[in-house]
Amino acid sequence: MSITPVAFAVSHWGTDPWSRGSWSLIGRDGSPQDRIDLGTPVGTRLRLAGEATHPTRAGMTHGAYEQGVEAASWAADLGHDRIAVVGAGTAGLAAARTLIDRGREVVVLEARDRPGGRTAGVEIGGTGFDLGANWLQQFDQNVLARLAEDLGLRLVPTDFHDPLVLDGRPVPDGLEAELRARLAAAPAGAAIAEVVSDWLAAPGSFTSQDICRYVAAEITMDAGVPLSWLSARHGFEPGVGEGDRWIVGGYRLLVEHLATGVDIRLGHPVRGIEVTDDGVIVDGEPFDAVIVTVPLGVLPSLTFTPELPASHRAALSRLGMGRVEKVILRFDERFWPVHPAGYYRLHGPGADDICEWLDATGADGTPTLVGLFAGPWLAELWTGTDPEIAARAAHQWINASTAATTSS
Ligand SMILES: Cc1cc2nc3c(=O)[nH]c(=O)nc-3n(C[C@H](O)[C@H](O)[C@H](O)COP(=O)(O)OP(=O)(O)OC[C@H]3O[C@@H](n4cnc5c(N)ncnc54)[C@H](O)[C@@H]3O)c2cc1C
Repeated sequence: MSITPVAFAVSHWGTDPWSRGSWSLIGRDGSPQDRIDLGTPVGTRLRLAGEATHPTRAGMTHGAYEQGVEAASWAADLGHDRIAVVGAGTAGLAAARTLIDRGREVVVLEARDRPGGRTAGVEIGGTGFDLGANWLQQFDQNVLARLAEDLGLRLVPTDFHDPLVLDGRPVPDGLEAELRARLAAAPAGAAIAEVVSDWLAAPGSFTSQDICRYVAAEITMDAGVPLSWLSARHGFEPGVGEGDRWIVGGYRLLVEHLATGVDIRLGHPVRGIEVTDDGVIVDGEPFDAVIVTVPLGVLPSLTFTPELPASHRAALSRLGMGRVEKVILRFDERFWPVHPAGYYRLHGPGADDICEWLDATGADGTPTLVGLFAGPWLAELWTGTDPEIAARAAHQWINASTAATTSS
């Protein structure tokens, strides 16, 4: 048996010029109001949309979709006929489809050579897997989940509350409730690191190690920023663990459907947007209105004339992007333990280092894993070539999972 991956793919969200991070987060001085402010129309011809503008479903595809629909309805209600949409991710495609349904002319300008944005598929052995968004989260309230069901896509549940923790220790009862209570009681402007540090100074009935491991698994894995930056009150946003299901064949099956019939100009990075009395000029081309859906991390690289209002700039300064990277590994034989949740957790050498693994073998029957990595160790793990990164990631998995199999 070989335990070298026979195929792999590696993400680079941290350095990707068209995302500059994985998803948006609320910094220590911020609140969900900043997301609302960012998505508030600028006059009657410019509106920002995308996941970062959703106050309760940020960082998720269905939140992005809802914001795209909302922005499109705003533009159509105002009577605009010809509208530019910047970005062909979930929000941009949702906006374009809504405007087309309302009989408007829409041009989508997309920097990459593909639609989908942070839903990014790769094909391995003829099957699609996801290097970006993987799950349909908050399944019961998820508009894209309804679309996936209508399209007859095969959806596989993951139980995030019951991962197999490869190095043993279960989460002690009551730890989550105490963490949430401490975060909710934090003073305005406090960061999560301060709350954790106070707790570690007097850990009560929990051990310091258990507290650090839980915070890494639930917050660092879900955010990918230093906890000294993340808002204590608002940084631990909802999403994961509400009936999540992944799509066999990947998100591209949804994207292909959403992009059908939409006029998308690929390879067209927008640099400047000018709002005039008569319309908007997007890189020299006139439109009646524009909906901008580029990721939060990319927004500062666009030139707005006149500049964005102070409330938008203040919101931008209090929000930020985290970094969670993914690796897909395919093996010729399965060597890791079966776990009904289909999900595995492994803590790294540092207290904040964490990786989690989805067993995606069910996609086509060939042993395949999708690993998510966050924490300080990314700086070292994600250097060099893709084969080197994949080999390092595989090493973490192989060591931990073979040890777990041997000891069970
Ligand atoms: C690793 C990872 C895992 C994730 N997992 C999940 C998950 O399991 N479930 C979930 O719901 N969400 C997940 N997400 C988040 C989800 O992918 C995003 O919230 C969602 O896709 C954002 O959609 P959007 O339309 O707002 O932005 P994007 O999808 O980023 O779309 C913006 C588009 O704008 C384009 N663009 C950027 N700059 C320019 C420019 N100057 N000119 C023209 N075009 C430009 C980009 O190329 C992109 O296509 C994950 C994200 C990552 C990175």
